[in-house]
Amino acid sequence: MTAPHSVLIVGESLAGTAAARHLRTLGHTGPVTIIGAEEEGAYSRPPLSKAVLKDPTADHTLGLSLDGLDIGVIRSAAVAADPRRRTVTTADGRRIGYDALILATGADARRLAAPGQRGELVLRTLDDARLLRTRLADAATAIVVGAGFLGMEVASACAARGIPVTVVDTDRPLRRILGGYLSAAITARAAAHGIRFVQATGVAALTGDPVHGVLFPDGTELTGDLVVTCAGEVPCVGWLDGTGLADRLGVGIDDACATTVPGVFAAGDVTYLRGNATRPHRRAPFWSNAVAQGRTAAASALGLPPSGPSQDDYFWTEIAGLSVKIVGRLPLLGEPTTVAGSVAEGRALLTWTHTDGTATAVAYGRRQPITALRRLAATSPLPLNSAQPAHT
Ligand SMILES: Cc1cc2nc3c(=O)[nH]c(=O)nc-3n(C[C@H](O)[C@H](O)[C@H](O)COP(=O)(O)OP(=O)(O)OC[C@H]3O[C@@H](n4cnc5c(N)ncnc54)[C@H](O)[C@@H]3O)c2cc1C
Repeated sequence: MTAPHSVLIVGESLAGTAAARHLRTLGHTGPVTIIGAEEEGAYSRPPLSKAVLKDPTADHTLGLSLDGLDIGVIRSAAVAADPRRRTVTTADGRRIGYDALILATGADARRLAAPGQRGELVLRTLDDARLLRTRLADAATAIVVGAGFLGMEVASACAARGIPVTVVDTDRPLRRILGGYLSAAITARAAAHGIRFVQATGVAALTGDPVHGVLFPDGTELTGDLVVTCAGEVPCVGWLDGTGLADRLGVGIDDACATTVPGVFAAGDVTYLRGNATRPHRRAPFWSNAVAQGRTAAASALGLPPSGPSQDDYFWTEIAGLSVKIVGRLPLLGEPTTVAGSVAEGRALLTWTHTDGTATAVAYGRRQPITALRRLAATSPLPLNSAQPAHT
């Protein structure tokens, strides 16, 4: 493949800016344009559920700058793509041509409100975080629907402000992803920080207009001053209708971040890695993966091999004052293979060895450089002198 002259990136956030930066790092001197839908420009989302909910000054520390890289920026949502003619159309009526296209439109928050029902709070954008912060300032009680990473982070922010908070889910906190062992430890820690958990027997509906509560399948209702839905994300692919580039899971890509359409690549939360005979389709909507895929998509768009790993399975979260860092495949099943330290005391290093021989390493409330955690996942089970039999 000859190197493309112009590269168009749709989605001005983590994956899109990582791709733009890497195009220049790789020596691409042709035009690079990025199309963004948010007035704010590019910013980092992980602090939204952590620092930003507590501290308004954090709003100004999130920027993902492209200064000095000679990147053209268009702030108007892409509304259509024509891969045959190699053009993208924006909401303000522009039609932009490209030689190579990188899709990086991420995801929106999944919403549970009925059509027309107002007042559901979600957390995906800086505007969402600002609104939630304002509402937290005078809330006496809160309900969080969804006990995944985001739900538990939002509940932690409520608890840290002294707001009694109830988390509602059909499964135990984080059990789907981190398994029963860590779920039990995190649930206990959250409870000790004032986070109450209610396990619903089925999907709970939001009540009120504006929303003020949750209705359980058995007919009981829980009400609160604010209700935040943290029920996962939906890839932003509506604008790709009719192109064959996307389906329910997002934009399917291979290990080189190539889609099924020549000249079109994709990265970040909008994507899923296409499965094959030996592996299922896989979504990995995490920060490090968006960066790794952004860089890979940039290299592939230039016809170059990736200069680093094309996927990244590092993830971190902060729940009830405890940081959890994870390298390796999820979900975690069963008991850990090794535990060093004490999970009950909130300071442990754990590994899980999977049936395919790969391993996942978890730093639970314990300071651990990421490189060391990566090494541990790559070389697990732990060497005998640093590992102890599993215990809490
Ligand atoms: C509150 C929160 C906390 C998080 N915390 C963590 C964490 O602790 N650790 C971790 O590993 N990950 C975390 N994540 C996940 C991480 O932030 C995402 O994986 C990352 O933001 C993905 O980047 P992206 O560029 O693929 O997508 P996004 O960040 O979603 O950006 C996509 C961009 O594309 C724009 N866009 C959408 N449609 C269009 C269109 N049609 N035209 C133009 N632009 C469009 C969007 O407006 C958006 O700006 C968190 C996410 C959230 C929301």
